[in-house]
Amino acid sequence: MAYLNENYLKLQAGYLFPEIGRRVQEFCAANPEAAKRLIRCGIGDVTEPLPPAAVSAMKKAVDELSVRETFRGYGHEQGGNFLRSKIAQLDYRDRGMEIADDEIFVSDGSKSDCGFILDVLGDRNRIAITDPVYPVYVDTNVMAGHTGPADESGRYEGIIYLPCRAENGFVPEPPNEQADIVYLCFPNNPTGAVATRAQLEKWVAYAQAHHALLLYDAAYEGYISEPGIPRSIFEIPGATECAVEFRSFSKTGGFTGVRCGFTVMTKQLLLQTSDGRELPLHRLWHRRWSTKTNSVSYPVQRGAEALYSPEGRQQVRGLIDYYMGNARILSAAAARAGLGVYGGKNAPYIWVRTPAGLTSWQMFDRMLHDLNVVITPGSGFGSEGEGYFRISAFNSRANAEEVARRLEAASFS
Ligand SMILES: *Cc1c(COP(=O)(O)O)cnc(C)c1O
Repeated sequence: MAYLNENYLKLQAGYLFPEIGRRVQEFCAANPEAAKRLIRCGIGDVTEPLPPAAVSAMKKAVDELSVRETFRGYGHEQGGNFLRSKIAQLDYRDRGMEIADDEIFVSDGSKSDCGFILDVLGDRNRIAITDPVYPVYVDTNVMAGHTGPADESGRYEGIIYLPCRAENGFVPEPPNEQADIVYLCFPNNPTGAVATRAQLEKWVAYAQAHHALLLYDAAYEGYISEPGIPRSIFEIPGATECAVEFRSFSKTGGFTGVRCGFTVMTKQLLLQTSDGRELPLHRLWHRRWSTKTNSVSYPVQRGAEALYSPEGRQQVRGLIDYYMGNARILSAAAARAGLGVYGGKNAPYIWVRTPAGLTSWQMFDRMLHDLNVVITPGSGFGSEGEGYFRISAFNSRANAEEVARRLEAASFS
């Protein structure tokens, strides 16, 4: 008899996006005319084409592979040195963070890494996760058997949930209990909140005092515009000994379909064995990569490298500015419509209070039926997201402007 991993049976049915799809489909079938006006501001996926620097680098790499003289087969399991050194130099050392080339691990994106990291972590850790949250952190821990079953509100037994509310600016304080592993994501998806240096210093101090590990998702660091907001957890002194950072080219270089990201794992980060020894997690992580992967395809790595060229950086800047222009238009319109608006300044997500006590799903239906705009109900990101909805700024300018017009014309009182 072959047995399956029963932890998967604890997962809440992939509820959010399938349910959005079902409601949108039903609405479109019943209202074919309105369906033509439909604008999607729901899913967090980019819309604009790739930066030309990345396109030409990928084409050139394919050409290299197509002739004997420059053909290459397997590369380093942890990623090509040409890319790892660019990342370590331009994203870290040039900004005053001492990160070595071999502390960068190139992957097919940070969603994968957020799950893979559990390979090298023990089973007895108490996990703390913010609420609302990117669902990957919770679900991968459920799959790994680190939780009990979910209750009616969708919260899993054994996880410490850290509420992110308007009162704390959507940045939680460290808990008054022992957490061994803490997931943090700033700028945040879905709330768009960023953590200040002082707030991150508190988290590093917590990690030091509790011998905890911070798993820091910085997928949206490129969207930070406010001066003084840290773009990496390693800007905080002491973080190299207690944090792992995940980054992605998905939202910066528009690589959601191309697939490339990386993990930063320092050699100073030590974790415990059950018999009380402290060992570098880097050693296990390196071994995991050697055994389980061959990194990312060569043309994709060359495409990612090109994002660090002067033209590449300028083109990435252009993409981010474009989406953040949408965010400004959408935030202003939602505010003029009388709604409580958060985020949207250092992140491509606008987190909006539902009006007049509507639930997140009631607001979803209202936006769909009255405005023909698809948003994401906040409750889909966790129970603390109830009473909010997320508008994504990943869209064409024309669509963002049209959504803004419809929002301002609507009456929510
Ligand atoms: C989009 C996103 C990522 C990036 O995922 P990839 O697998 O690199 O495309 C990571 N974290 C969060 C919170 C995201 O929203």
